[in-house]
Amino acid sequence: MKRLFILLVFVALAANAAVQSPSQFLGMNVGADRTLADYRQIVSYFRALAAASPRVQVESLGRTTLGEDFVMAVISSEANMRNLARIRSIGQKLSDPRGLSDEQVEALVHEGKAVVLVTCNIHSSEIASSQMAMEWAFALATANDAETRRRLDNVVLLLVPSLNPDGQIMITDYYRKYLGTRYEGGRLPWLYHHYVGHDNNRDWYMLTQAETKAMNRAVYRRWYPQVWVDEHQMGTEGPRMFIPPFADPLDPTVNPLIWREVNLIGSNMALRLEQQNKAGLIYGYSFDAYWLGGTRNTGWWKNVTGLLLETASARIATPVNIEPSELRGGSKGLVEYKATINHPHPWAGGMWRMRDIMDYERTASDALLEIASNYREDLLRNISARAKAAITSGGSDAYRIPRNQRDWPTAQIMTSILLDHGVEVQQAGSGDYWISMAQPYSRFVTEMLEPQRYPEVRLQPGRDILRPYDVATWTLPLAMGVTVEHASLPGGLHKVTEIKPETKAVIARHANDRKPRVAIYNPWGGALDEGWTRWLLDTYGFGPKSLHPQDVKAGLQNFDVFILPDISKEEIATGRRRTEEGSMRYVDELPPEYRGALEKEGADVLRKFVEGGGTLLAFGEGCEYVIENFNVPVRNALARATDFSSPGSLARVAVNTDHPVTAGMPEETAIYIDHPIAFETTLPGGEMQRRVLMTYPDDARDILLSGWISGAERLTRKAAAVAVTYGKGRIVLFGFRPQHRGQTHATFPMIFDALYWH
Ligand SMILES: [Zn+2]
Repeated sequence: MKRLFILLVFVALAANAAVQSPSQFLGMNVGADRTLADYRQIVSYFRALAAASPRVQVESLGRTTLGEDFVMAVISSEANMRNLARIRSIGQKLSDPRGLSDEQVEALVHEGKAVVLVTCNIHSSEIASSQMAMEWAFALATANDAETRRRLDNVVLLLVPSLNPDGQIMITDYYRKYLGTRYEGGRLPWLYHHYVGHDNNRDWYMLTQAETKAMNRAVYRRWYPQVWVDEHQMGTEGPRMFIPPFADPLDPTVNPLIWREVNLIGSNMALRLEQQNKAGLIYGYSFDAYWLGGTRNTGWWKNVTGLLLETASARIATPVNIEPSELRGGSKGLVEYKATINHPHPWAGGMWRMRDIMDYERTASDALLEIASNYREDLLRNISARAKAAITSGGSDAYRIPRNQRDWPTAQIMTSILLDHGVEVQQAGSGDYWISMAQPYSRFVTEMLEPQRYPEVRLQPGRDILRPYDVATWTLPLAMGVTVEHASLPGGLHKVTEIKPETKAVIARHANDRKPRVAIYNPWGGALDEGWTRWLLDTYGFGPKSLHPQDVKAGLQNFDVFILPDISKEEIATGRRRTEEGSMRYVDELPPEYRGALEKEGADVLRKFVEGGGTLLAFGEGCEYVIENFNVPVRNALARATDFSSPGSLARVAVNTDHPVTAGMPEETAIYIDHPIAFETTLPGGEMQRRVLMTYPDDARDILLSGWISGAERLTRKAAAVAVTYGKGRIVLFGFRPQHRGQTHATFPMIFDALYWH
């Protein structure tokens, strides 16, 4: 026995001796100015750490969009690491306590470990956390002080060094390539996710992307963490770090215990940072407690406590020097840059480097482990209490998704998304799907299936309401064109474990047609709507080509259809894009090889293409480019409207189904409007034919279906989509995004039918 003990000690020491720091292992000074470890180096470090330390394992979550190994580290005490299956099982039981007595719950709370998830670097240019993750893991693997050991005994940490590995590699490659030039630390000329760029953090309810799907599975089907912290970076010239409490508004359907835990954890993070004299911490700022699309946010409706951290950025790994006069507020929660109760210790300006970001993030992350360790039993008991409250409030309510409906394959897709989220789905012999509300994620189900009414919160009497942070709706049945009914749950149902959707009707209808050759306009600097369009057409087998300005100028003879995504007319024409403040900026921060726009030459090519028989589709703002450059009998009625706003809502339109583009549509549908274009048409001359495809209702009160619109009367009787013939070709103008973030299946058929219109 004694000999065995000595042997074990020796093995442990030998193992620890082999654990190298990230800098030693990678042969670089991790966190230093102008130094970045790329994702493959990070994975190699985590794998080496796992091989050397009994406190660390690496799980592969699957492959990324571009085929990288998508990993998550599991870090805890040696004893917990030998007991992970049991720890996971307790977490799962507490997240769904149906069938457990209070005594059984209490016994599991006593035995269980807090499971906390920290995700880093979903936005690839917000890169510091991917570097910090290695240092943090190394410290946890090697520390032997009593406090770290206590934390690791109480907590299992799930650490994802990057939620978008492909983009982490794009950013580090590009950064290294332009190091030492005037483009060092500048913007990437393309999207940092193959399809969705920054919108990878808008996908957490729809689950369209490989990374979102894989992470979602690990969270809601395997690990059931109680807390999820997502580490981001924000602008350079404001506060140094946002740590919750969140700003208003909040969604009142979220269990308030979530906010109490968020505030407890956030306050401890701020306390530990302030003790180190770290300036510039702020809460109640910019980021609200309403919007559901981001990583941790989706968890709020699934009883998981989610926090967002946002640290001020450098220029990737290049330090910035901020003059005090350049520091500014201007966002909700900090109108002017000065000391306020939520921002009591403003940062004074000066040098700011990636190392600073990593240090702030590291302290906050350690404070998370500390509080999760201190409140281990509370976190476990609370998630169980929230689940129980959701089960009880769901009562005997249920939703029926009838087999007999217009678009069953899309109803199957919608139901499979809910299933992937961990929602319990049942099926009747008739084929109908049923969702009982007596389940832990019932609030999530309501949020996904019912219309949203954006809470109009005013901070002072008579003042304007707080505007939505992002979109204001996510009602899947409306966005997807699926029929869902309230009903009471019948007997004789069986549990569904997997759904394989049938082929969509619009795709099946064109199965024997020759596939159109499709090109999508892709501006330098990237455009989110280009990415989503490419994703949609790739997903449904069209294999589109993305064309940069010079590719368009070289001619479109090899294409049948050209798509202008939702990009401003100025950017399409000149390459200048609007900054957030509304001023125009040349894209001259990009190297010369990544510059250019359509200009006059590209516009001529485009007109010749359509006159010669091609089809041109334009989405959202892309329509304004067409209105300006083609002689079409259409104008944008909202062009100069200052009293209209729709940050992302579902609106009702009537559809004229007597046209090839609308052949697959019902007579009324919901469209997703997000800075829409509303058309007024006039009688065209000559041989041109124009058809209004979609029209907003006569009465403004009939327009909004879900979300928030200000100035809806601006839309009444205006057209939302128009088709015109042009020479031998065709133009279809969608005054909205018919493929909005891959969510709006209701209007996908119009895109596919427009591709085949000839
Ligand atoms: Zn971010």
